[in-house]
Amino acid sequence: MAPLTTLGIGGPARWFVEAASEAEIAEACAWVRERSVPLFVLGGGSNVLVSNRGFDGLVVRVAIQGMQVEGELLRAAAGVTWDGCVEQALGADCAGIECLAGIPGTVGGTPVQNVGAYGQEVASAIERVRAFDRAVREFVEFTNTECRFAYRRSRFNTVDRGRYVVTRVDYRLRRGGEPTLAYADLKAHFSGGKKPPSLAEVAAAVRGIRQSKGMFLVEGDPDCRSAGSFFKNPSVAPEVAERVQQIAAHSGIAVRVFPADSGLVKIPAAWLIEQAGFRKGYTLGAAGISSRHTLALINRGDGRGSARAEEILALAEKIQAAVEKMFGIRLEMEPERVGF
Ligand SMILES: Cc1cc2nc3c(=O)[nH]c(=O)nc-3n(C[C@H](O)[C@H](O)[C@H](O)COP(=O)(O)OP(=O)(O)OC[C@H]3O[C@@H](n4cnc5c(N)ncnc54)[C@H](O)[C@@H]3O)c2cc1C
Repeated sequence: MAPLTTLGIGGPARWFVEAASEAEIAEACAWVRERSVPLFVLGGGSNVLVSNRGFDGLVVRVAIQGMQVEGELLRAAAGVTWDGCVEQALGADCAGIECLAGIPGTVGGTPVQNVGAYGQEVASAIERVRAFDRAVREFVEFTNTECRFAYRRSRFNTVDRGRYVVTRVDYRLRRGGEPTLAYADLKAHFSGGKKPPSLAEVAAAVRGIRQSKGMFLVEGDPDCRSAGSFFKNPSVAPEVAERVQQIAAHSGIAVRVFPADSGLVKIPAAWLIEQAGFRKGYTLGAAGISSRHTLALINRGDGRGSARAEEILALAEKIQAAVEKMFGIRLEMEPERVGF
């Protein structure tokens, strides 16, 4: 499975099928049910860490294509590349997902972890998600509220993990709407401009900023052999955030924290990792931290050999332990681990 993932790691799938229609998705689900075989649903492989042993079951790669814009509704099949979907919205002069330009993966992957970046989340654009329900063996549709979106969460990666195969997502956009300029890096990029930037200019700026951080897939760039951010930004109780700020103040440094859901406080995971002694470019065998982004763990292997999934996990666990020892906060890994 290595070539099907952005980390470039992963042994064989026992069975593999590419499903190009809803009927093929239903058929694959029936096939695993009849044989009591485990199923893994793969999109663009940009948020997974696959074991070198591979996956002892059926991997279904969702490859359903097609998208159309009806007024302000962008309806996209799950196998469409996400960045292609963003381009389609920009071409129709529709605002709502411009800051999510340059994120790898497929449309079907976006509701799973409520993809977000640079001041936007898909949760604010998704109107409806269509999926195959493996439990009742039929296609179902969820409204935005029913998807239960939160930071990097939805019903699809929490309570209903593994139950649904997403086949289509409808995004409600704003035709002729203003771009979202909420994120500091993006605001700074356009500060001093004579007129407000267009949607396309914001998307291009986001891709540029992402590329400077190794978070935009460029063939041959070693910092891109990652699964994006390997850790979520932790949301903690206010008293925990206060304790972190005190620890920081003790060392004469400041930490910027942000309000999160339910009265919690979000602390940048990258900051915690750096304070715990892990800098950009840190290496542990063939695993490492991107030289341009502290949150991205990379496969440093090249033509001479790849990192093993266990090496990436060993580095992740070393980081978790150091952060927990220093701040009492357990970082949560973001990519799905497959075949462990
Ligand atoms: C360089 C880089 C930068 C990134 N930047 C960001 C970022 O800024 N913000 C962000 O949120 N993420 C980011 N990511 C992570 C990743 O791109 C997203 O999470 C993306 O949405 C994953 O989609 P995918 O199709 O690749 O899913 P996969 O990696 O194939 O799968 C991820 C999970 O989604 C499930 N899944 C995928 N498709 C379906 C489907 N059709 N139905 C049901 N379940 C499905 C899988 O079973 C798995 O659990 C980045 C990754 C990389 C490599």
